[in-house]
Amino acid sequence: MSAFDLELKTRLDAIRDAGLLRELRGVDSPQGPRIRLGGRELLNFSSNDYLGLANHPSLKEAAINAVEKFGAGAGASRLICGSLAPFHELEEALASFKGTEAALTFSTGYATALGTITALLGKDDIIILDRLVHASIVDAAKLSGAKLRIFAHNDLNDLEAKLRWAKESGHASRVLRHILVVTESIFSMDGDTAPLKEIVELKDKYGAWLMLDEAHATGLYGPHRRGLAEAVDGSDCIEIQMGTLGKALGASGGYICGSRALIDLLVNRARSFIFSTAPVPAAAAAANAGVKLVQSTEGRRLNELLWSRVGELHSSSSGAIIPIILGEESAALTAGAKLREQGLFVPAIRYPTVARGTARLRVTLTAAHSAKDVAELARALGDLKSEIANSKSP
Ligand SMILES: *Cc1c(COP(=O)(O)O)cnc(C)c1O
Repeated sequence: MSAFDLELKTRLDAIRDAGLLRELRGVDSPQGPRIRLGGRELLNFSSNDYLGLANHPSLKEAAINAVEKFGAGAGASRLICGSLAPFHELEEALASFKGTEAALTFSTGYATALGTITALLGKDDIIILDRLVHASIVDAAKLSGAKLRIFAHNDLNDLEAKLRWAKESGHASRVLRHILVVTESIFSMDGDTAPLKEIVELKDKYGAWLMLDEAHATGLYGPHRRGLAEAVDGSDCIEIQMGTLGKALGASGGYICGSRALIDLLVNRARSFIFSTAPVPAAAAAANAGVKLVQSTEGRRLNELLWSRVGELHSSSSGAIIPIILGEESAALTAGAKLREQGLFVPAIRYPTVARGTARLRVTLTAAHSAKDVAELARALGDLKSEIANSKSP
């Protein structure tokens, strides 16, 4: 083994010894309520395909048509070789869905956060993050060079303290400091909801900007399923609305919705947009079909189905993401393995996705699950909980 590989092997051993080794599991089926994993069919409670669109006939048809019409690849960055029609159609559909002036799409949600935050803020500015925001936002904030402050999860008092500090430090240094607050609508690993109305009031009070990551809310919340911003009637007060095209919308990619000025600036300054080949046209076409579907009566029906399934589980979580916090990394791995033995796939989530000591199973429900699937999950989770309770009692 080369010295290079020996060094990496040492690092991998350390990861394994800490119970944190991750391995890819091959799947030989489309995403759906049942997947073929390692040659076995498992009931799947792991995906963010909340409305069951990833394998929906209308998204597949849109992707196939886009391949026929526009080919498999995009050729280059959209600023270099021309910007293919499916991207523009998607962006118009997103802006109209979200009720904003304009929209811009990126290859992934990760690239969206990275490009957007670094385009808007620099070393003279301040970014204030909820402690539990997604890694893409943390990475983007670090890369921007801005001063970072973290507020305790969903804690409005702590957010206000950080905003007051930011405002005062701006006055003291006599440079124009822009302040950006970033939070998520529905937190990806905890499934709880940001107090968005109050956050909007606070950022307005201190003259800060707000970026809201609707990754787990788009397609799910609000009278027209536009997201949490719509649900609290706050859409017009949020400067930057971010989301992904790969969760409830069933395809892949990320988006920003907002003013025309915001989108024009991102086209000029977002490095993950400028210096990256456009996604395949099929991805944009599928996402566009997803946006259309969410707004249709079928979208409403799927949304209602999802909430019925969530209700049937009788968990303490009110949303489609249900964390079962187990603590130790090994406890989460063992619990996940037990469920797999019973034919259920529920991923164990460990550090660094969540904080040390808060390893968990993360259950996600989708509109594609049947009542019977949920009943089977409830039974298995009930068994697991009593087993854990028994092992703890002397
Ligand atoms: C998944 C996710 C992202 C990243 O989106 P991708 O399209 O998967 O890169 C960003 N933010 C949150 C909250 C997410 O859950």
